[in-house]
Amino acid sequence: MSPVPSLWTLLDAVKDPEIPVVSIWELGILQDICQPDEGVVRVKLTPTYSGCPAMDVIAEDIVRTLECSGYPQVEIERSLSPAWSSTWILPNARRRMRNFGIVPPVADSANSIACPQCDSTETLLVSEFGSTACKALYRCSSCGEPFDYFKPI
Ligand SMILES: [Zn+2]
Repeated sequence: MSPVPSLWTLLDAVKDPEIPVVSIWELGILQDICQPDEGVVRVKLTPTYSGCPAMDVIAEDIVRTLECSGYPQVEIERSLSPAWSSTWILPNARRRMRNFGIVPPVADSANSIACPQCDSTETLLVSEFGSTACKALYRCSSCGEPFDYFKPI
């Protein structure tokens, strides 16, 4: 079933509540939108991290956004296979995350977590858990600023 462009445009307004500069489509969370029956909109989502509380907020935002646009019957389907990967995040979204102060996941994270403020790679892991379980807290040794690192999976 082919997606309906206007629905995709509507849901482009739904952002990750923790990273309000990127849409759920850019993050790879929004997988598909279809209309299986007259008046029904089914939205397929792949959660980034299982148990991440942001997913509930995102699902509520989707329902509210569609309701306000005349689609009162919304079904949220969670797709767990294939599992979400941080490599699904689009390049533009990665750049905006970084400008927002959250370091996007990098594949080889052992030695190259660069500070989003000053680009120094002299950074230290402070805690495996940052503002949320999805992120780790780092501190830059050059400028002293703490920052969140979105952990890769
Ligand atoms: Zn720095």
